Amino acid sequence: MRSIRLALLALACTIPTILLAQTPRPRPVTLVTSRLIDGRGHTLSGAWVVVNGARIQSVGSAGASATGSVYDLRGLTVLPGLIDVHEHVEWHFNPKGRLHSANDGETPEQGSLAMAHNMFAILRAGFTTIQSPGSPEDADLRAFSASGRIPGPRVLTSLEPIANPKLTPDQIRAIVRQRKAQGADFIKIFASKSIREGGAQSLSDAQLAAACGEARALGLRTLVHAHSTGSIRAVVNAGCTEVEHGIFATQAELDLIASHHVWFDPQCSLVFRNYLDNRAKFYGIGNYNDAGFTSMEQVVPVAVQLMKRALATPGLMLTYGTDAVAGAHGRNAEDLICRVKQAGEPPMDALTTATSRAAESLGLQKAIGAIAPGLDADLMAVDGDPLTDITALRRVVFVMKNGVVDKNEAKQWGSQ
Ligand SMILES: [Zn+2]
Repeated sequence: MRSIRLALLALACTIPTILLAQTPRPRPVTLVTSRLIDGRGHTLSGAWVVVNGARIQSVGSAGASATGSVYDLRGLTVLPGLIDVHEHVEWHFNPKGRLHSANDGETPEQGSLAMAHNMFAILRAGFTTIQSPGSPEDADLRAFSASGRIPGPRVLTSLEPIANPKLTPDQIRAIVRQRKAQGADFIKIFASKSIREGGAQSLSDAQLAAACGEARALGLRTLVHAHSTGSIRAVVNAGCTEVEHGIFATQAELDLIASHHVWFDPQCSLVFRNYLDNRAKFYGIGNYNDAGFTSMEQVVPVAVQLMKRALATPGLMLTYGTDAVAGAHGRNAEDLICRVKQAGEPPMDALTTATSRAAESLGLQKAIGAIAPGLDADLMAVDGDPLTDITALRRVVFVMKNGVVDKNEAKQWGSQ
């Protein structure tokens, strides 16, 4: 069978370029795969994926005709592009090797290039969509990536988050409307303090109700940072879309989140370990002090325990966000490895969470998050089988976003 398939492929590759040049439509691209995980819990063997323009045209058997460029991804595992719903893409280290902060001597050009570097690093790690909660710079990163001017993932952003406890509910509603007018894809809210400051509730129930209520009325999702039990309860009761972090959640809060069909985005390890690994680059800036680092050291085992309880909570809607900051961009798969190796999640479930489930949490399940006809052609291939060795996610050899190949270390059979 393989020799016939190869012969057909060779035949297809000899089509004179003159014929194809007369075709105004983009040439299809065929990905020949041996193992494909579709993002919805299924594994396919020997599937050929045909991409036409920015979309997946078909996912079928080897009998399909191959025209245009053909990529041989056999021996690898092909997956949908991964999704990180909590990625601070603009965070970077300045030329002195310290976390960039205001008036640190970094030029705007250095800052822009560092952010472009982050975008490329994330994409090359197989993450074709990120959600940034959020920063004003995201608007330009989103536009430059969407138009193909820089290589990077698709970006969704909240722009500037809402965190000031002095704001009245009316002022908060006005800011939500302003963010919508500025082009925010969703609203980011801080309902509690940082983990480095104890994580207690910082916005009142009335302020949260104003923020999430106004956003819902405008059709915007709300992602809310909440650590303490009280702040988590307040977020759920305010009708917000997603609880971020929730590090101190007990089983009662997990059950509450589940029963209200609120998305939950706990982190397994990357964000904490990244701070600890890069301590000198953060130390002395803001709340990155001794007490702050002690808090982060203490939550490393707590985070894994929370992940285990979250995974065991019936009906809890989990998505995948790493909270990646400076030093973590491009290592976005590490929390999937943690979820499987430390929290015991079945690999297929972890992969589904970072693909079709994450897409659903963004309201984009009809566009991304799976390898299926009609969806955007966001795909990646890794060396190895993540179902038996989840660390294969560290070995990304092929990335395609919107039908454009951004990374290819696999053998290419040729392009006619
Ligand atoms: Zn964050």
